[in-house]
Amino acid sequence: MDHFLYRNGVLHAEDVPVPEIADAVGTPFYLYSTATLLRHFALFDEALDGLDHLVCYAMKAASNQAILRTLAQAGAGMDVVSVGEYLRARAAGVPGERIVFSGVGKTANEIRTALEGGIRQFNVESEPEMELLNAVALELGKIAPITIRVNPDVDAKTHAKIATGKSENKFGIPIARAREVYAMAGAMPGLVVIGIDVHIGSQLTDLAPFELAYSKVAELTEQLRADGHDIRRLDLGGGLGIPYERSNSAPPLPLEYGALIKRTVGHLGCEIEIEPGRLIAGNAGILVSEVIYMKSGEDRNFLIIDGAMNDLIRPAMYDAHHDIVPVIQAPAAVEQQPYDIVGPVCESGDTFARQRNMPPLGAGDLIAFRGAGAYGAVMASEYNTRPLVPEVLVHGDQFAVIRPRPSFDEMINRDTIPEWL
Ligand SMILES: *Cc1c(COP(=O)(O)O)cnc(C)c1O
Repeated sequence: MDHFLYRNGVLHAEDVPVPEIADAVGTPFYLYSTATLLRHFALFDEALDGLDHLVCYAMKAASNQAILRTLAQAGAGMDVVSVGEYLRARAAGVPGERIVFSGVGKTANEIRTALEGGIRQFNVESEPEMELLNAVALELGKIAPITIRVNPDVDAKTHAKIATGKSENKFGIPIARAREVYAMAGAMPGLVVIGIDVHIGSQLTDLAPFELAYSKVAELTEQLRADGHDIRRLDLGGGLGIPYERSNSAPPLPLEYGALIKRTVGHLGCEIEIEPGRLIAGNAGILVSEVIYMKSGEDRNFLIIDGAMNDLIRPAMYDAHHDIVPVIQAPAAVEQQPYDIVGPVCESGDTFARQRNMPPLGAGDLIAFRGAGAYGAVMASEYNTRPLVPEVLVHGDQFAVIRPRPSFDEMINRDTIPEWL
């Protein structure tokens, strides 16, 4: 469920008509709904009701500080994967003790900044990282709280580029070697082992892989406790999928996911962390774009829009589907027509949809990509010297630009020409 609904035939974001924002901001732009963000956070929070828990929003999905602060004020922690994200979360007002640090390639500088600034835990992904973390902690006279990310060798049955829990993936340490690696960690004076971490992939539309992975984590918990480790926290990762194609998909609900967590690990008495990103931000954001031309090709019609692959790369990168809707609803009697919906970038990959049925559209009409809130704006670039796409947040009947569109001067003046030229 989201808060982008038609009223009198006009798409609204909560109480604000989308065309009003387009007039004020220009297109393309991302538009987020506060109510939807909060609703999705609350669904997870309530799903874990009865367990000691913290929902750590995976901020790589959508990391604008206005979004972070909205969620943090509702009680969310953050999952960060770089020191940049760490500093951004801190700037948004998130305290260090609510931030977990994930990622396979943490550098010494990243580790140092987080240790000095305060961190809830490091999710360690390899033995060399463990050694580096230990060394940096000792150098700073600190003890770093850690979980170790285990790779449970579970097929998440999702797109290959976002599957992370198979043994051939670069993430975590093989679960079969976990006891050995925990023993090494336990002997390092700069580390304190507090738990286990797992994250098997993204856009999972079936609960079975979670069930398998979490059962393995439960078993490992008992073994590690028997080995003498104080396992008191389980970080179960993110990954729950969203319905990108509303007409034919209904992924599991957070409530069912929460029940699964209770069933598989609830008896262990551990504090539970989860790291949802996509399900919190995905349907809380749309990308609004304007049709520049309707071009009639030999055997098909193209809608050439002012949004492009640099603004929303998911279709080009993951073959992703986004529902695309007209901002002004056509009368029910109007016959739909197939269009290829494409951006202006000089690559055939700059195609959002092929032969998509839409009401008749032409220059100046606004369209909206649904489900664009996660892995949308954060992956945007200035490819083709196109301004970085702005972001807007709606709250009831108010809206605010939360990242302005840069001017061409700003963009161009970021380059520096060497003296010898
Ligand atoms: C990307 C990522 C997440 C979030 O995944 P979603 O599919 O967006 O919920 C959580 N944890 C880790 C470690 C990640 O890399």
